[in-house]
Amino acid sequence: METLIQESGYARSLIEASLDPLVTINIKGKITDMNEALANITGITRKQLNGTDFFVYFTEPQKAREVYREVFAKGSVSDFPLTLRHKKGKLTDVLFNGSVYKDEGGNVLGVVIVARDVTEQKLVEKELTEAKVFAELATAIAEEAKRKAESAASIAEDAVKSKQQFLSNMSHEIRTPMNAIIGFTKVMLKTDLTAKQKEYLTAIKMSGDALIALINDILDLAKVDAGKMTFVQIPFKMTVSLSAMLHLFETKIQEKNLALIKEYDPNIPEVLLGDAVRLHQIILNLVSNAVKFTTTGKITVSVRLLSEDEETVTLEFAVTDTGIGIPANKIDKIFENFQQATSGTSRLYGGTGLGLAIVKQLVESQNGSIRVKSKVNEGSAFSFILSFGKTKEQAQLEPEPAERDTEIKNIKVLVVEDIPLNQLLMKTMLDDFGFERDIAANGRIAIEKLQNKSYDIILMDLQMPEMNGVEATAIIRNNLNSRIPIIALTADVTTVDLEKCKAAGMNDYVAKPVDERLLYSKIIGLVKKPARVKTGKNKGSVPEIKKERCTNLHYLNYRTKSDPVLMMEMISLYLEQIPPLINVMKQSVNDKDWDLLYSAVHKIIPSFSIMGISTDFEIVAKKVLEFASMQQEPEEMQGFVLQLEMICVQACSELTEELNAIKNKNL
Ligand code: ADP
Repeated sequence: METLIQESGYARSLIEASLDPLVTINIKGKITDMNEALANITGITRKQLNGTDFFVYFTEPQKAREVYREVFAKGSVSDFPLTLRHKKGKLTDVLFNGSVYKDEGGNVLGVVIVARDVTEQKLVEKELTEAKVFAELATAIAEEAKRKAESAASIAEDAVKSKQQFLSNMSHEIRTPMNAIIGFTKVMLKTDLTAKQKEYLTAIKMSGDALIALINDILDLAKVDAGKMTFVQIPFKMTVSLSAMLHLFETKIQEKNLALIKEYDPNIPEVLLGDAVRLHQIILNLVSNAVKFTTTGKITVSVRLLSEDEETVTLEFAVTDTGIGIPANKIDKIFENFQQATSGTSRLYGGTGLGLAIVKQLVESQNGSIRVKSKVNEGSAFSFILSFGKTKEQAQLEPEPAERDTEIKNIKVLVVEDIPLNQLLMKTMLDDFGFERDIAANGRIAIEKLQNKSYDIILMDLQMPEMNGVEATAIIRNNLNSRIPIIALTADVTTVDLEKCKAAGMNDYVAKPVDERLLYSKIIGLVKKPARVKTGKNKGSVPEIKKERCTNLHYLNYRTKSDPVLMMEMISLYLEQIPPLINVMKQSVNDKDWDLLYSAVHKIIPSFSIMGISTDFEIVAKKVLEFASMQQEPEEMQGFVLQLEMICVQACSELTEELNAIKNKNL
């Protein structure tokens, strides 16, 4: 008995220690016993609980009753969720676990129930579910935002592209007529005029210049915005480049009675690698501002070597003036688009407030930095730091300013230009220089002319119908094997693909509207250089275009084992077959008879390798075959066909000589 009492005391203490409510109910559903946890959760004393209906303490008594019935039916239930209510309203979520208990005879006496408090757990679960829902929502929102951003980016990209295209087209469309307006104004300004006429023409020219400058600026900014501004790495001579540019300001500086001081650090290596054109643009903007905003005193342009390592030099350029200066409260603004220091600036000095914005972009896009110091009425100092590569290569595309040399006359210039107004303008300009000139309306005509007459230099427009400037240059260099100097005339200096011109073999370029002095100095610079002009007019009888041999009879010799009869037979066959095939080729292109073109070119192809003609032409011929088989006539077609014609004509002439030589040897 003692142990029984002890045991039941021990069980009781375990029951009481449980934090989960524990209760026994008789078959009628009345509470017969409980622990303290139930009293705590319901807020009702054990005494009051005893004998009461168990189900009333749940928020859903009916459900509790059902579970209770289920226990009797099945013997037990587990983890059934229910909610207990405290008398003051607090709810406790529980998992209901119950099983019947029986007397020794196996009769069911009631149910013992443990209701596990899962409020905390439910809360965590709820939070987790909420967090999951939020996370899903956030993902959905982020995905939606991403989709929107992507579509916005693609819209923006398209917008930038069409803005670029629009600006590029517009600038070309505007520049071409402006070129003529400015050019003819210049020409007219040189004629006898009354003072009034001169004044009007000067006004026209100034407005034209301003318009061109504005278009260039806008185009440049658009390019920087679109991330399309590219910087080349070409060897150039810094001193030459700088002097050539400052040269442009000499007249203006003299007119204003200002002094120009150049300070150049002699430790700077002679040839540097970088983008000389962009550097010009930066310095040009700064010096032109300095000249514009200074009425007395001096303008100093200095270049200092800041640091140097094995591969690069870092230079500091400064343009200092003694002009009107910039108010302190405006100094941060002047690098922004369309910003001028005072509202009267545009009226008094002109300009649009774009120059410095471009300068800043040009400097910063090359990882440089720019700053300004200024005091009103004392002057301004703009300085920027840029790095350049070191190189052992020779400088290319050097501008070589040359004064007019009265000795240099009789220079024969071939102008390749399609627009009649521009042709006339170039004629007038070249007549003025005292040069001889011929005009070709496109690349194809230029090539014909070059074969019949010798010239000293070519001025080549880039965009022309039938055959453009780059294609024509490639033919002049590769097929005619001529080193004649070629200067590109480009309407769009900021988008000019200098690399493309250079790759095709052009020597230099001049932007339209053509600056007379610059053009003159470039022509003289290139014509005077004997190295660049292999054959000169002073050699009289020597034809201008010295052709290198295009045929090589190694293969034929090998095949025929140098049998002269076989050799002659093969060569004669070539000379018989190829000329009519060339005619068919040309005619079929004119008639757009692609099948005929295909068959003619197809027959020509094997002759290239037999006669040792460069495989380059076989490639060209195969391209023509491809176009012909697709019944297409792309822009390059005319150029390709012309290349094939010319190489075959040259081959025929060489092979005729060869044939005669073999004949003579074997007579
Ligand atoms: P713009 O010269 O076409 O007005 P810029 O962007 O080149 O445009 O210059 C912006 C403004 O900065 C100018 O309008 C002028 O007020 C001021 N500024 C630039 N350079 C100088 C200078 N050397 N001296 C005085 N003010 C200057």
